[in-house]
Amino acid sequence: MRAFSYSRAATISEALAQHQVSADTAYLAGGTTLIDLVKLDVMQPPHVVDINRVGLADIERQADGRLKVGALVRNSDLAWHPEVRGGFPVLHEALLSGASAQLRNMATTGGNLMQRTRCPYFRDVFWPCNKRQPGSGCAALDGYNRSHAVLGVSDACIATHPSDMCVALAVLEAEIVLQGPGGERTLPFRDFHLLPGRTPEKEHALAPGEIITAVMLPPLPAGTRSCYVKLRDRESYEFALAAAAAVLRVEGGKIREARLALGGVATKPWRATEAEAVLRGAPPGGEIFRRAAAAALQGAQPRTYNAFKIELARLAVARALATAAGGPDAAA
Ligand code: SF4
Repeated sequence: MRAFSYSRAATISEALAQHQVSADTAYLAGGTTLIDLVKLDVMQPPHVVDINRVGLADIERQADGRLKVGALVRNSDLAWHPEVRGGFPVLHEALLSGASAQLRNMATTGGNLMQRTRCPYFRDVFWPCNKRQPGSGCAALDGYNRSHAVLGVSDACIATHPSDMCVALAVLEAEIVLQGPGGERTLPFRDFHLLPGRTPEKEHALAPGEIITAVMLPPLPAGTRSCYVKLRDRESYEFALAAAAAVLRVEGGKIREARLALGGVATKPWRATEAEAVLRGAPPGGEIFRRAAAAALQGAQPRTYNAFKIELARLAVARALATAAGGPDAAA
């Protein structure tokens, strides 16, 4: 661990000003990712700005019906907020499936969006890793890649995005509010995380110095049901091997609205639009859910040790869809 300077901001303006100390300044919120990675020498910020006292810890219903979640709302508070339990159950389920109770009490909404991969080669500075050190290579391509991604991969990086919360935000069509030196702007959630391509070190669309201030959640259409399914090696305090978030609205015996996203198998929270197209207009049932699951994984590119994730993800998708439809478990 390297020494770094530290400052504490009382307002967003102060935080933006204090960020100017260095281009590599890091913002500190819950610290559940940053502190670990600094200790491991994976991140070496010369300066850290503590933003825990700038506010941004409220959850508020807006006049237009959207729910505004401050970036410093803790994961536990978000999961158990009545508006989330009642209006966005898929987010409630995804949040409670993540990490441990202690970590959820510290981790923030904005920090969860910024979560770094759990690729073991990224977290060990003695291995080549294009994400940690651009151009050094990728030890996972021909290494032990059991936990790695099969969707959205590139020749430079196959690291899995680790967040559960973000998979739910993908189907909720959230928007991310950012504040930077140039003012405020809003990004659709789908544009926030980037595919690795040839530049896996660029993980998100934040401009230098920008802070996430809020996540906006549009209300789900009336009559929708949802489900989050997470499959992992053990039942708690473990990252997903495969996960699926589904939102369905069935009316007149047909699927009128279908949203599906995958976690644990992709390099970013993965919206499965091909699978959604299969579902729309079809009567719900095991056969169509299995076809949608196949479509969701159609472009999968497995490596030596992670091919099993393709079938696991199909099962997660089929089960999430069946549960959201309120019918029997089609994955059984
Ligand atoms: Fe690094 Fe990505 Fe390769 Fe892991 S998969 S070693 S994060 S480049």
